[in-house]
Amino acid sequence: MGRIQSIRGMNDLLPEASPLWQYLEGRVADLLKRYGYREIRFPIVEQTELFKRSIGEVTDIVEKEMYTFADRNGDSLTLRPEGTASCVRACDQNGLLHNQIQRLWYAGPMFRHERPQKGRLRQFHQIGVETFGMNGPDIDAELIAISARLWQDLGIDHALTLELNSIGSSECRGRYRQALIDYLSQFEAQLDADSQRRLHTNPMRILDSKVPETQALLADAPVLSDYLDEASRSHFDGLCARLDAIGVSYTFNPKLVRGLDYYGLTVFEWTTTALGAQGTVCAGGRYDGLVEQLGGKPTPAVGFAMGLERLVLLLQALEATPESEALADVYIMASGEAAEVQALAIAEKLRGQSDDLKVLLHCGGGSYKSQFKKADKSGASLAIILGEDELANGEVSVKDLRGQSEQQRVAIAELSQFISQFRAGQA
Ligand code: ATP
Ligand code: MG
Repeated sequence: MGRIQSIRGMNDLLPEASPLWQYLEGRVADLLKRYGYREIRFPIVEQTELFKRSIGEVTDIVEKEMYTFADRNGDSLTLRPEGTASCVRACDQNGLLHNQIQRLWYAGPMFRHERPQKGRLRQFHQIGVETFGMNGPDIDAELIAISARLWQDLGIDHALTLELNSIGSSECRGRYRQALIDYLSQFEAQLDADSQRRLHTNPMRILDSKVPETQALLADAPVLSDYLDEASRSHFDGLCARLDAIGVSYTFNPKLVRGLDYYGLTVFEWTTTALGAQGTVCAGGRYDGLVEQLGGKPTPAVGFAMGLERLVLLLQALEATPESEALADVYIMASGEAAEVQALAIAEKLRGQSDDLKVLLHCGGGSYKSQFKKADKSGASLAIILGEDELANGEVSVKDLRGQSEQQRVAIAELSQFISQFRAGQA
C-alpha cells in the first residue's frame, strides 16, 4: 500500500523551520503588546453564511476558493478563508462591541482552494489585527504605524512599499461603479473573460486585473478618487497627514481595491518586489459597515492581515533571519543502569535550578563514542559524563566540547556552580 500524502497546498512545518516562525510570531506578538492589543481566538470552522454575507457572494473567495462542506446534520460549514468575519462574529456574539473600543489580534491557519505556488497555499497562516469603535483616521494611522514598525524590527523595511487608497463611502462607490460600467461597456468584447463576467457583478475588481490588455483599456477609465465625497476625502487627508507626521511614506494607488466586499474608505497593501508574483505581504482597510451587516450595531472598524508564509519567504530572501540557536547548553551522558538513573536525577536538578539552561539528557544507551557524537550535534558547549567511577566518587566528568581544555572531574554537589562559572566565562 502506498503512503498517504498531505493535501496539495497544505504544508508541514518542519523542526528546522519552526524557529524562524516562532521568531516572526514572537516579534509580532511583542510589538502588538506594546501598542495595547489583546489576542482573541475563534474557531477555524464557521457557518458558511458568515463568509458569504461578509466577504461577498461575488468575490473570488466565496465564488471559488472556500472549503465548504455539509456537517453531519446537514448544516453548511466552511473552513475560515480569513479572520475578519469570524472576529466580528466572535466580538458581537460575546458582547465586546457594546460602546467599547477594542484593539485585537489573532493568528492561525486560513483555507482557500487556490492554485498552489510560491507564496500561495491552500492552508496558509495569517496574523490579523482588528480594531472596533473608532471612526477617525487616527486609528487607521496607528495600524499602519504598527506594520511599518514591524518591518523595521524585522529588518525588512527597505524591501516594502505601502500602497494606499480610499475607496470612499458606499454612495461614492455606487456612483463610481456606474461610471466604470458605462465606460467599460464600450469595450466589453475586448475584456478578458473574467472581467466580462465581473462587469455587471463586481466591476471594481476589474481594476485589479493582471491581464495586460484589460489594464490597457483601463488607462482612460474614470478614477475613483474623482468620485470621493467631502467626508471620504477628509478622512483620507487626515490619514495622509498622520503618516507624514510619523515619517511613513506611501504610494497613492487609485486602482487599489481589495478582493473583499466589506471595505470602505481606507484600503492599503504592503508589497515587495522580492517575492515575484505573490508580492503582497500585508493588506487591510476600514470596514465600518460589516458589524451591522452581520446583525450587530453600527460599529466603525479597521484592520489588516499579514501572510506569514510570504513574510517567512521575504525574511529568507533578504537574509534577515535570526542566528540559529543550539538545541542544548549541556549534554548529559551516562554508562550503566545506576549511572543512567543518576544522570536523570542530575538533569532534572539542573533544570530545576536554572530556567535558562537547556539540558539534553542522552537516552537510549550506546557507546561513549556515539553519545559524544550526539552531544556534538546538539550544539551543546559542555558534556557531562557519568560512568561507574564517577558515580562511586560522587562526581561527574565534564568536557568543554568547543574548547581545548582537558576533561575534568567535578563533585556533583558543585556541578551547578561549575556550570554557572563556565557559562559566565563563555559570555
Ligand atoms: P492575493 O491578492 O495575493 O490573492 P488577497 O487579496 O486574496 O491576496 P487577503 O485576503 O487580503 O489576500 O489576505 C491578506 C494576506 O494574506 C495577503 O496579502 C497575503 O499575504 C496572504 N494570503 C492571502 N491568500 C494567501 C494564500 N492563498 N497563500 C498564502 N498567503 C496568502
Ligand atoms: Mg487572493
